[in-house]
Amino acid sequence: MDKIKTMIISGGTHGNELTGVQLIKKWTTNPELCKKRASDINLDIVLVNPSAVAVVRRYVDHDLNRSFADYMLNGAPRSLCVEWNRAQELNQMYGPKGDSTKTDLIIDIHNTESNMGVCLILSEKNAFTMRASAEIANEFSDVHIYLQPEKRTTSPYFGTIARADICVEVGPQSHGTLRASLFEKTEQVVYRYLELASEWNAGLLQQKAKKKVTVFTQHKDIDYPRDRNGNISAMIHPNLQNADYAELKPQDPLFRTFDGKDILFENDYSVWPLFINEAAYYEKKIAMSTTLKSVEEW
Ligand SMILES: [Zn+2]
Repeated sequence: MDKIKTMIISGGTHGNELTGVQLIKKWTTNPELCKKRASDINLDIVLVNPSAVAVVRRYVDHDLNRSFADYMLNGAPRSLCVEWNRAQELNQMYGPKGDSTKTDLIIDIHNTESNMGVCLILSEKNAFTMRASAEIANEFSDVHIYLQPEKRTTSPYFGTIARADICVEVGPQSHGTLRASLFEKTEQVVYRYLELASEWNAGLLQQKAKKKVTVFTQHKDIDYPRDRNGNISAMIHPNLQNADYAELKPQDPLFRTFDGKDILFENDYSVWPLFINEAAYYEKKIAMSTTLKSVEEW
């Protein structure tokens, strides 16, 4: 990746994820807190879904962070859907998604109710986002890297309207609430990204020795067991609650039915689950996302 000339720090893509909402309010009032750390970069602070923030809900009509696929931005007529309109508006202001986008880098702040600490979600193997995230994962405790490679054109995430993006996913925090420790840690991680972006532009980050990192790569999502009417028929197994990033072996307990029976993990190999019991994913039919774990030099 060449120099990072234009960058967005964003939050409130989901209106009830308050770490990002509150940080964006803080930085909108005092942008120098961010700008002084990367004075060579043209930086915008963006509250992504103000309508959802106003009602403290994830979204109003449709998940905004599932509204940025090419066909939604280009093909769909402007509709009564709050989020599809907002997606098209953001794409006009900061995109358009693709090679001619006005934005080099987006750092989008999210929360999860899962026990994931600070999770740096990378949508592809990009030279800057890998290098910078490797530094941060080594500098901070309980910071993990989740690689979620997806085709950029079909990916529905806000960050994909930029040339590169990082989603900073922070938990555990109940939606609609704030935790000071997570707020402060997220703030420090974002400041570090800004400094590293500036170091990248000066060619300094590229000269540093690569760092060893544990990488969790997207594998498969697992849904809850369901009855014939589509209602869930079991819960996350107590052993698995809060066990994000831990190895799940074949035949380990996965779910517990309402009658107290265990449902085991029927698989030939181990996986490492994330987003275990995330509240917002019940509607998406995801009980957890599984990953494969590797150690790499980034
Ligand atoms: Zn979110």
